[in-house]
Amino acid sequence: MRKSIATVSVSGTLAEKLTAISAAGFDGVEIFENDLLVSPLSPEEVRARARDLGLGIDLYQPFRDFEAVPGDVLAGNLRRAERKFEVMERLGATLLLVCSSVSPDAIDDDELAAEQLRLLAERAAGHGISIAYEALAWGRHVNEYLHAWRIVRMADHPNLGTCLDSFHILSRGSDPIGIEAIPGDKVFFLQLADAPLLAMDVLQWSRHYRCFPGQGTFDLAGLVTHVLETGYAGPLSLEVFNDGFRQADAGRTSLDAMRSLIALEEAAARRRGTTPPIPPPVIPSGFAFAELSVPPAVPSAIASAVSAGDPPGPPDPPGLPRHPPELSALLAALGFVRTGTHPGKPVELWEQGEARILLNATGDEPALAAIGLESPDPAGSVKRAESLLSPVLPRHRAPREARLDAIAAPDGTELFFCRTEHPGHSSWTDDFRPRAEGTARAPAAEGITHIDHVALTQPRHHFDEAALFYRGVLGLRPQESLEVPDPYGLLRSKAMSSEDGALRMVLNINQVGAQHIPWQHIALACDDIVATAHRLRAAHPGLLLPVPANYYDDLAARYDAPPELRELGLLYDRDEHGEFLHLYTITAGRVFFEIVQRVGDYQGYGAANAPVRLAAQHAWGGQRSSTMNVTPSA
Ligand code: MG
Ligand code: MG
Repeated sequence: MRKSIATVSVSGTLAEKLTAISAAGFDGVEIFENDLLVSPLSPEEVRARARDLGLGIDLYQPFRDFEAVPGDVLAGNLRRAERKFEVMERLGATLLLVCSSVSPDAIDDDELAAEQLRLLAERAAGHGISIAYEALAWGRHVNEYLHAWRIVRMADHPNLGTCLDSFHILSRGSDPIGIEAIPGDKVFFLQLADAPLLAMDVLQWSRHYRCFPGQGTFDLAGLVTHVLETGYAGPLSLEVFNDGFRQADAGRTSLDAMRSLIALEEAAARRRGTTPPIPPPVIPSGFAFAELSVPPAVPSAIASAVSAGDPPGPPDPPGLPRHPPELSALLAALGFVRTGTHPGKPVELWEQGEARILLNATGDEPALAAIGLESPDPAGSVKRAESLLSPVLPRHRAPREARLDAIAAPDGTELFFCRTEHPGHSSWTDDFRPRAEGTARAPAAEGITHIDHVALTQPRHHFDEAALFYRGVLGLRPQESLEVPDPYGLLRSKAMSSEDGALRMVLNINQVGAQHIPWQHIALACDDIVATAHRLRAAHPGLLLPVPANYYDDLAARYDAPPELRELGLLYDRDEHGEFLHLYTITAGRVFFEIVQRVGDYQGYGAANAPVRLAAQHAWGGQRSSTMNVTPSA
């Protein structure tokens, strides 16, 4: 289907918008009048620019407060329309959006509205222009799409049809089934926007919080299905007013927009039983590994805090480069064993049970750089990602290395699709020595069995983009967004998981002071967290993030929780399916580890305890930096 977008949906000057929209692969644009008014480009120049970029001008909008007015007002409105028709002729645009009036001059009289719209359509026809009449959700007398359609039908002019706008229809709770009663050739245009469920004035909701399909709570696929049932063959066009998108990079927003339309087209095709435009998602069956980038040099403040008095972890294989101790020390303390080193790259493999961590010493400060996903069909995973506009990463592959298919997520995380030790296939772990020479799998020394979830920090303004990406590319199901109080701001958080819970991710965005560096974490699943916590507390008391006593006083008030939680510094949560016990390590760079135990069928992530964790992390970081800032006295 033809895909368009309103210029108001992305940031920048009109010229920048057109360039970004074209680069994302759109076929056309709606020119939002204000974008033209503030542009130094003449309508002819905009027309030429759009043509050179391969973009059609599918709609000019909006024309407001026209219909159902007294005669003297009508004359002025028609004069205003003639001026706009002239601009449209210069632009080469042939469809004008007229939205239902909000003017106090408007009279509640459908016959009068129809008569005047008919007159407008007749004038428009003289310029080769048609009119698409749209019911604004806050229109004075016309605010329901079927009401707008009744007026269009009454006016009965070939140059007058209706414009359907998903926001105006769904924000009022109107049933979109009625769309099917409108003949497809009278649906002149279809505008699409999603929105999060918010209890607020519909005008403010529309102007600030619209988002791309799949990023909100509306059933856009259902609405599009009804529209396609009418025989509508015009464009799917995005019209999104969003405070974040106005500030974000136009190129990136345009790609996000296009991805949302492709996913929407797929969802509608599945509803209608037609062939989807893209291959189906390949659902990963778990984490193969998490890769942390670490600096090649050694800031060892944490290493000494962690391993004061501890053995320094396993000995280095002879002749291999030694990695900075910070994360190595943390991993060793958690019971991980370095099982191999890459012969050609400064990368180490650390294992415990099925939990695998790569330390890649090409980074700056410790950060979660890549995730390996177990895929039943790695090539299929990449095809799916490519069809949703994800950049495929070049494979830097030495002659004997396992082939790893990788893509870049919008947050910069690299996602590798792989199979670990799958019978009949080579495994990426074979690349690491001496592991391939028969090193036994690392035992679960501290009871850690696998990676339970990873928490990734998203860049500002790109939270919804990331959620749509992971949902579309990996087939993960998003849970509700949460807002977690941080001492210096808010953390917005959204969990996403595969249907069976084998793959869980948490997307976080910090709305905290600009200097704060966001944290990421890897949560490790454990069989017996009480035993693990006992051992860790005895051997590495400096490793665990301190939890305030007030937390345990409150916990005791809420639950009949065992007193050893307090002694061990464990946090606790429960839902209707089960219980959750967890603990956090101190941070290394941008990264910390969490150890979790799910009891029963608990589905959450301990979000209720996240404010305690954030406050403790700030306190711990503050202590650490004040100690580090002490200058030796002369
Ligand atoms: Mg609209
Ligand atoms: Mg967590």
